[in-house]
Amino acid sequence: MQTIRQIDALRDAVAALRADGQPVAFVPTMGALHAGHIALVEEARRRTPHVVASIFVNPRQFAAHEDLDRYPRRLAKDQAMLAEAGCQLLWAPEVDTMYPAGFATAITIGGVTAPLEGAARPGHFDGVATVVAKLFNQVGPDIALFGEKDYQQLAVIRRLVADLDFPIEIIGVPTEREEDGVALSSRNAYLTEEERAQARALPRALGEAAGSIAAGGDIAEALARAEAALVRAGFGPIDYIALADAATLAPLDRLDRPARLLAAAWLGTTRLIDNIAVMPG
Ligand code: AMP
Repeated sequence: MQTIRQIDALRDAVAALRADGQPVAFVPTMGALHAGHIALVEEARRRTPHVVASIFVNPRQFAAHEDLDRYPRRLAKDQAMLAEAGCQLLWAPEVDTMYPAGFATAITIGGVTAPLEGAARPGHFDGVATVVAKLFNQVGPDIALFGEKDYQQLAVIRRLVADLDFPIEIIGVPTEREEDGVALSSRNAYLTEEERAQARALPRALGEAAGSIAAGGDIAEALARAEAALVRAGFGPIDYIALADAATLAPLDRLDRPARLLAAAWLGTTRLIDNIAVMPG
């Protein structure tokens, strides 16, 4: 696997991959890779031999008070994991390459960015949309894969691609979880042993609430029970726990269409997110 840091070299390397006519798949990441990221690479490999990954910890999607400085960085291990999974190119630009002096453009997406993560992290999805649009233009893939772990982000990327006519097929990949149900996340590295044990309450609370809502139970009561379970387990504050339209992320008070139950909550200094599908009966 080749690691590339300059845009010209990236374009040449992707053009060389394309020579055999097979599609190019792209997996954008912020590094500190785990089996969730590797599931994206493996899903890409099922579709094409040509997989490009990126590692870029994007300052523009972190607010000033967020964890940009402590976000885990470990390139050598990431390179080994990507190579092992069959990734051919790693695009790993420096911040100055992505955002040279004078950079002044931001992409703002309405609607789907408003609730949930968008409300809890103002500006976050502008940073995501801007960097993903740049990465798409740099790599020029046919397919791009994103995890359902960041469910609203996946919906935002679908909106971006539809609205700006990127000729890229977006694939959502189901969340990889530990045996106890906790979603794999680079941020799990922040958790103490005790917090890691407490974290199980998040997928459990979502699973119980989703089951109850799918069975026709009262939505507000199910959400309140889930919130109470998280607080009992040691979570706090709870940024949100909400039922939303699976496509638009608009809040739902009746299960009359495919829905998603999403939550974000703090364990000590770590913010965890998770989500689960809820289908009408
Ligand atoms: P990140 O490095 O956190 O920006 O994530 C890069 C990509 O990996 C995003 O598309 C995430 O949704 C995806 N991802 C992160 N964690 C998981 C997971 N546990 N299962 C599946 N995909 C994931």
